[in-house]
Amino acid sequence: MEMIKAPRGTKDVLGDESRKWAHVIGVCREVAEDFGYKEAMLPIFEHTELFSRGIGDATDVVEKEMYTFTDRGGRSVTLRPEMTASVMRSYLERDMSRLPQPVKVWGYGPMFRYERPQKGRYRQFWQVDFEILGSPSPLRDIEVIDTSMEIYRRLGINNLSVLINSVGCPKCRPAYRDALRGFISGSASGLGGLCETCRERFERNPLRILDCKNPECKTLTDSSPSMIDSLCGECREHFGAVTRGLAAIGASVSVDNRLVRGLDYYTKTAYEILAGELGSQNAVCGGGRYDNLAESIGGPRVPSVGFASGIERIVITLEGQGVNIGEEPKPRVLIVNASEEALISSVSLLHELRGAGLSADMDCAGRSLKVQMKRASSAGARFVCVIGEDELASGTVGIKDMSDGEQRTVSRNDAVSALQTCLLDWGKR
Ligand code: AMP
Repeated sequence: MEMIKAPRGTKDVLGDESRKWAHVIGVCREVAEDFGYKEAMLPIFEHTELFSRGIGDATDVVEKEMYTFTDRGGRSVTLRPEMTASVMRSYLERDMSRLPQPVKVWGYGPMFRYERPQKGRYRQFWQVDFEILGSPSPLRDIEVIDTSMEIYRRLGINNLSVLINSVGCPKCRPAYRDALRGFISGSASGLGGLCETCRERFERNPLRILDCKNPECKTLTDSSPSMIDSLCGECREHFGAVTRGLAAIGASVSVDNRLVRGLDYYTKTAYEILAGELGSQNAVCGGGRYDNLAESIGGPRVPSVGFASGIERIVITLEGQGVNIGEEPKPRVLIVNASEEALISSVSLLHELRGAGLSADMDCAGRSLKVQMKRASSAGARFVCVIGEDELASGTVGIKDMSDGEQRTVSRNDAVSALQTCLLDWGKR
């Protein structure tokens, strides 16, 4: 029978790699606590409408990438392609506008997009997500960008580029869309100079043409009008306040007029953080302001700002930069045993050691004492507890210090406290 493999675009995170993930999530949790974000654990699937209305019908994510299915009750549901829409849904549904504003939320988990898999791009990928809901202040944009940069700083990641732009608002964006369409159709090659995808985007979502990776599309839009020049007074002022604030906190940020995001809900600030280690999928983080998302999913206006960062991409960057996250914890104590009878006695000692909070393990396969000793040494155990024939007969255990090979005998009843003392002394060395 053919062996069943994992679906394309998914990844088993195992062993050493999973420690790196836990480390990343741990650092995010620390930053969340220091910056005052509360954790939210939200459903992995939602009503499809949340995403089609929230993210936007004309986006690649909604048009081509969603894992949508009809459940047994005949409802259309979708595995979440991102978290922001769910966070906003939860804010509205749980009436969080009654809490002191803004509400700061963070969370992490798997997201699903049917994309073409490649390095750093998966169909199931994990994001950490930070959102500040209920504030129009540019200071919150700065706080969000600072939150993301602090995570990478604490992780020991360097050499990131932070790009920022303003994508305007429903007041000023239509005029810019028209200006961009006019520029493209008036260019020498006209619409024909665009790739097939961008020709489709031209009517429905022309801003996305600006971040197309196709070299011809890039050349065509090289000298296109800049969004920044088309901003309305309010958006211009907001953008100025954000860039001034970022300068005040010493953030090194470049303005990139071509930066647009793949999700329609962004207004005003859009930003991305890029890492050279990632290759063509170089964004480790993307975020911005989304003042109209709440309205598009049936709520009142809730001006908000946030970001998401892909955990796989953070880990690739950590590895690419050779960041050391410390050694894997090793069992402190290993019990080696000599006979069937000693096995039972070892199990009860192991239970007591673990119950006392010590990291301990034992051999359960009845291997020879010599082999067990070798394994204890290669596993990096600090102390080995020996329960051989003599120890069993005399109600004792041997404790061998693996650093100098010295062995002493203690009574079985004192074994746990003796090992605790040994480990304490060892910790002070
Ligand atoms: P987005 O939700 O598209 O704004 O993406 C935010 C971040 O999620 C990106 O900067 C990436 O780090 C990560 N990301 C997005 N899509 C994928 C994917 N298909 N595979 C892995 N990471 C992704």
